[in-house]
Amino acid sequence: MNPQTTPTHPTPTNSGSTDPTALVAHLRATFRTGRTKPLAWRKEQLTRLRALLTEHRDDIAGALHADLRKPRAEAYAAEVDFPIREIDHTLERLDEWLRPETVDPAEVTGVFGPGATAGTQYDPLGVVLVIAPWNYPAQLLLVPLAGALAAGNAVLVKPSELAPATSALLAGLLPRYLDREAVTVVEGGVEETTALLAQRFDHIFYTGNGTVGRIVMRAAAEHLTPVTLELGGKSPVFVDRGVDVDAVATRLADAKFRNAGQTCVAPDYVLTDPVTARALEAALSEAIEKLYGADPAASERYGRLVNERHFDRVEALLDSGRTVVGGQHDRADRYIAPTVLADVRPDSPVMREEIFGPVLPIVEVDGLDEAIGFINDRDKPLALYGFTDNETTRQRLATETSSGGLGFGLPMAHLRLPELPFGGVGESGTGAYHGPHSIATFSHRKARLDVPLG
Ligand code: NAD
Repeated sequence: MNPQTTPTHPTPTNSGSTDPTALVAHLRATFRTGRTKPLAWRKEQLTRLRALLTEHRDDIAGALHADLRKPRAEAYAAEVDFPIREIDHTLERLDEWLRPETVDPAEVTGVFGPGATAGTQYDPLGVVLVIAPWNYPAQLLLVPLAGALAAGNAVLVKPSELAPATSALLAGLLPRYLDREAVTVVEGGVEETTALLAQRFDHIFYTGNGTVGRIVMRAAAEHLTPVTLELGGKSPVFVDRGVDVDAVATRLADAKFRNAGQTCVAPDYVLTDPVTARALEAALSEAIEKLYGADPAASERYGRLVNERHFDRVEALLDSGRTVVGGQHDRADRYIAPTVLADVRPDSPVMREEIFGPVLPIVEVDGLDEAIGFINDRDKPLALYGFTDNETTRQRLATETSSGGLGFGLPMAHLRLPELPFGGVGESGTGAYHGPHSIATFSHRKARLDVPLG
């Protein structure tokens, strides 16, 4: 199927209305019937979502290419196989995750007498709103959707208008695979999202930037709706003296320049000492050439900036330091070469905002103490990465800094394990998901006490 010709379906529920109030009322009515609660329904939805992904791998990759010039291998790995793995992991363990927990009977009878029991159960929340961004527009819509369905909710999903081919494709496919009474897709931008946010949901799951995160949280506060905010920020990388810089450069370049740097957990900047910085400059140049060849513009493996606004934003950061490699750019093609900047001052433009593009600044520090101070002087990042052979350094980074996630040796890999919570802290977000953490996010853990009358 050609994603460009896929019809859009702004109103795929059986309610037949485009009015947000009516759409949410329809989902709420569905939820009230109890239809979404049985385990069999949840598993069926997950299985169907899996079928959508396997049967439309190529359509999804095609839409991602149209939106972001996303390389095929990257599209399959991050936006098809990743959600499939998440679904499989959930299907295998859902019964176990949802099993009610009981309090030690001796504790309960000690307080309430013989026969009393107590425990907790996971209740679905009701109607969940998922608002997705454009950078991984399939994964970041479908993985939260899978979690919300696994937890037994009705769901309204809003794909990003900045990835229009993927948005249209998913809006066309989701109602064909999932229960249309319980899952609705609304396409659109600010106007449509604003109208949705005026409704009362039982949970709002937002992925994107902190400015909109604040808008979402304010709107949610009106209804006391809990939110998960998956935001971004500048994720630092500390490279210790004496590490194998070639190995570091290979892994760092691969993580940084994937999706042309437009990944929320991409390494944003490097903190290292002057000697290691020099060695890293040469190693990064080599690693980039190995990954993308002498001319990354001609490489099938290299993506583009999502639109001209983001191109202009990132292009303006290019003279924030000495260019070690890269710097070439072409607005008509939304191309910015993988770029490494050295001698970058902490107050330069590239250090004042999340880069979200293919520019890697190296900032020099004396050593670990200064690096920890540098990190703690700034917003809590979504991820912190370290390359070190020293256990004390690892411990200090782990205990003396705060970040959504922490990765040693392999950047951007921690989110591939569904058993690890994925989320931010402070400015990088609130709440977490993946695997059992999605169940916790999209459920209410209800306390239950049962005391016999007689
Ligand atoms: P985006 O522009 O696609 O926005 C995200 C969503 O917010 C879209 O659905 C959009 O329609 C909606 N939106 C935009 N403006 C709005 C408004 N004024 N009112 C209501 N809704 C509005 O995505 P983005 O924010 O450009 O994405 C990039 C940011 O997202 C980066 O900061 C990145 O780090 C972060 N991010 C975080 C994660 C994560 O998992 N933590 C993942 C991807 C991206």
